[in-house]
Amino acid sequence: MDRREFMKTAALTSAAAALAPVVAQPPAAPKTFVGIQMDIGRILSDGVDKVLDDIQRLAHVNALFLYTNTYMEERVHANIQGTFRGGNFATVHPQYYKDTLLKPEDTRAPEFPNFDVLATVVPAARKRGIKTFCWIIEDNSLPKVPNMDKLWEVGLDGRPATRHPGGPCFNNPNYTNYLLGLVEDYTRSYPVDGIMFGSERQGPLGYSLGAYHNGARSDPATTCCFCSFCEAKARRQGIDFARVRQGYLALEKYVRAGRASQRPIDGYTVAFWRLLLDYPEILIWERFWTNAQQETYAALHAKVKSINPALLAGWHIWQNASWNPIYRAEQDFAAMAPFTDYVKPVLYNNCAGERMISYLDSVGANMNGDLTRGEALDFEYKALNYNEAPLDKLAAAGFSADYVYRETKRTIDSLAGSRTLVWPGIDIDVPTSGGNSKCTPAGVRDAVLAAYRGGAQGVVLSRSYSEMKPENLRGAGEALEQLKLV
Ligand SMILES: [Zn+2]
Repeated sequence: MDRREFMKTAALTSAAAALAPVVAQPPAAPKTFVGIQMDIGRILSDGVDKVLDDIQRLAHVNALFLYTNTYMEERVHANIQGTFRGGNFATVHPQYYKDTLLKPEDTRAPEFPNFDVLATVVPAARKRGIKTFCWIIEDNSLPKVPNMDKLWEVGLDGRPATRHPGGPCFNNPNYTNYLLGLVEDYTRSYPVDGIMFGSERQGPLGYSLGAYHNGARSDPATTCCFCSFCEAKARRQGIDFARVRQGYLALEKYVRAGRASQRPIDGYTVAFWRLLLDYPEILIWERFWTNAQQETYAALHAKVKSINPALLAGWHIWQNASWNPIYRAEQDFAAMAPFTDYVKPVLYNNCAGERMISYLDSVGANMNGDLTRGEALDFEYKALNYNEAPLDKLAAAGFSADYVYRETKRTIDSLAGSRTLVWPGIDIDVPTSGGNSKCTPAGVRDAVLAAYRGGAQGVVLSRSYSEMKPENLRGAGEALEQLKLV
């Protein structure tokens, strides 16, 4: 608020105070933003009031990020009989959906025909001063919904890219119009406070290289998108689609040779650069994908603001930005600020150790092929500004709270001069493999302290309430008390 706005507001407030009858004191405005990602499972099993009691008592939560639309069973945590399909957990209002092949009624989750998560939760939360954000995360495997395949990205091989990180195409109006309808439905039909959209995907270059955790077995022939909507948009922009395809076919050969341990004559680094120089279209097509992702963010933001300017629209930023330098370069917070009310960078420190190792394995036979895993880790730490455990201790140690501090500060610094808020995602019991590091109350407490030390204006406790042990959630509460923010 600038000085003039402040004076105006102050004058209005004192005038209103003089006129207002004496009423009971409203609850004090919260000093910080404490969000939690809430699956519907615990609401169904425990009841909404018990869930809200518990999260307020343990961690002073004042905002819910409610999973309102997902096809991923692991984000639902409900006791389902038979095969899970998922979808929209709120009532579908068909009048808000236009110009899409997807029939909105078909997207209603069939498992809970008489349950409307927003109608159940929002009034109970509002009564306690708890905000509700609709949390919409994209699904990477093709849901069994009629016509959903017509929204899907198409791989280099001409087939729908039905595996991670393929997904619906941002240049396909059947998808973007559906998404706009979905946020309009939520924000007009229920008194919510905003939306969070999450797209855990990347463009064709990163996908072809397998440059993400668990990417070691990605198939470069299925990299995407090469659908007719993308082709038509490319033509309008003067991009040579045939050359793009040739470039990605050459990249496919490079990735396959690496995975078969066939070192290029000039080494992996030089061969990679030669590919980019021979086919600059590889980078053009990667940028084309990211532009479409961010155009979708901007359209969702504009839609939400057109319905109610007081609502907030923000983005969950995939943790791939914590290891893949190309993806970090693309997720440029300063460029996103004009259409971003808040960002939730995923800074899950405990599971980051094993995820970093998985990333190193994924690009160890191409982009980083000239380095040993240890050297590649040192390079990552230097390039990304981390000070974390060496390779042999990393899985057992996870990343430290210092990572949360550094990444929060980088995000805040990138957004200097903008109004975009930063609410880092805090790891509370995101699952890790057997012997690898597990969250502790002190570890969660330190991660929350680190986020605020880095300048965060709030936190989003992640990733699902059902996964969180109460004692670890309590660690977040302790940090907020220590900081006197509650
Ligand atoms: Zn496409």
